[in-house]
Amino acid sequence: MSHGLVTAAYIISALCFILSLAGLSKQETAKQGNYLGVTGMAIALIATILNPETSGVTWIILAMVIGGAIGVRLALRVEMTQMPELVAILHSFVGLAAVLVGFNSLIDLHPEAATNVVVTAGADLETTLEAVKEAYSEAAAAASQHALTGAMLNIHLVEIFLGIFIGAVTFTGSIVAFGKLRGVISSKPLMLPQRHKLNLLAVVVSFILLLYFVNTAGSTIAVIVMTLIALAFGWHLVASIGGADMPVVVSMLNSYSGWAAAAAGFMLSNDLLIVTGALVGSSGAILSYIMCKAMNRSFISVIAGGFGTDGAVSTGDEEMGEYRETTAEEVADMLKNSSSVIITPGYGMAVAQAQYPVAEITSKLRAAGVEVRFGIHPVAGRLPGHMNVLLAEAKVPYDIVLEMDEINDDFESTDTVLVIGANDTVNPAASEDPGSPIAGMPVLEVWKASNVIAFKRSMNTGYAGVQNPLFFKENTQMLFGDAKDSVTAILNAL
Ligand code: NDP
Repeated sequence: MSHGLVTAAYIISALCFILSLAGLSKQETAKQGNYLGVTGMAIALIATILNPETSGVTWIILAMVIGGAIGVRLALRVEMTQMPELVAILHSFVGLAAVLVGFNSLIDLHPEAATNVVVTAGADLETTLEAVKEAYSEAAAAASQHALTGAMLNIHLVEIFLGIFIGAVTFTGSIVAFGKLRGVISSKPLMLPQRHKLNLLAVVVSFILLLYFVNTAGSTIAVIVMTLIALAFGWHLVASIGGADMPVVVSMLNSYSGWAAAAAGFMLSNDLLIVTGALVGSSGAILSYIMCKAMNRSFISVIAGGFGTDGAVSTGDEEMGEYRETTAEEVADMLKNSSSVIITPGYGMAVAQAQYPVAEITSKLRAAGVEVRFGIHPVAGRLPGHMNVLLAEAKVPYDIVLEMDEINDDFESTDTVLVIGANDTVNPAASEDPGSPIAGMPVLEVWKASNVIAFKRSMNTGYAGVQNPLFFKENTQMLFGDAKDSVTAILNAL
């Protein structure tokens, strides 16, 4: 494949990626967006393999077959609720890849250091000399090929340094995010004393190391010290972010992994990698910003690590009063007598896989003339769009699934709200208790409806670990049990 064709293929891939992002922004076109992404990636891979500059194709194909097999196996096995963990661990691979590409570019910069002379035991002097000569000429050829000087060399050195730095931060940060989402690392923020100063110190020392690295035309020691600092920095950055901010962290790491890929693209002089990295980096940053707005967190403070959790003093564990219980039959009666119903699903609906009986109840009530709509909080569940995917899977019509902002004013005029496995996203403490860890987070104002039914298995807290005053309000009744069992029982009673 000629260089011209490779470039043309890269442009088509880049276009596919841009159109894919556009498609993914709406439910109706999301599938098409996915297909375009897959097509773009397939074209990119084929063009890269057929690129005349590519060597070691057998190794690449072997790696792709092994990696692809593991990827397909994992994708088939992963539960929807484990998706954010999978995304987090995949980001860590992008980070690690950027670090490896960085070190590889550094070795390329000093090829003589990486040249091996193979001397066979017992070989005569002539053969040994021949091997040394061959190694020397290989090194000289490589050196002349990569001979960069002046500004070009400095730019390349900065690319290497930044690529490794961003990659290392992404690598450990994503591992911590994976651990927190999986529950193997505590979701409580790590509060080291002077942690903001520690972060600042890490950045300042890394910057000084960058200057030294450029001045010494690629000091290996400087880059190793920086890598260790960046690994610790990434770990600390995410460890000091509390559970309630985790969704932002996942999309922020998505953005970091994009910038790490773009940096790798600069190091490898691969335009497509630069474009793709920039697309992922900027779309991740935009998503993080949107989510920060949805959770009332400042983008900068989340990036700086856990700042938003500083003032949190109340855990909500104090006495809340009495709560009332109800039964599936009573809820069925209440629904039959309602003229408007809003369902606000959350993480518990995903765990229980209750979306199918929920969809059946919806169509039954709609057939009986009851207005049924869904209210979706931007961070309900464990990843953005989690609830939308589940409801689409159960064939709930898109036009009755509304965003929080579209439906929040309607709760006041609603007869019954079914809170199915949601907790933090319907917690009035967010707007009523300034000391709450989720204070200021916009929530679905379900308590304004005439009746609220909360589907849960116990009085346990949600993801942020705070108690919910909603469950103790006069107009709220608890329906205890697995959400799928409860919804099915209501369906039978209907
Ligand atoms: P929450 O995690 O706040 O609450 C879920 C509730 O579901 C729990 O109170 C639990 O109570 C109940 N539950 C669990 N399993 C079942 C079951 N089988 N049947 C019935 N109920 C069940 O969920 P929300 O969706 O309201 O809020 C999402 C939270 O997750 C937010 O704090 C958000 O910040 C965070 N988060 C969101 C991400 C995202 O991108 N969407 C990513 C990471 C975190 P019980 O145990 O008593 O049954």
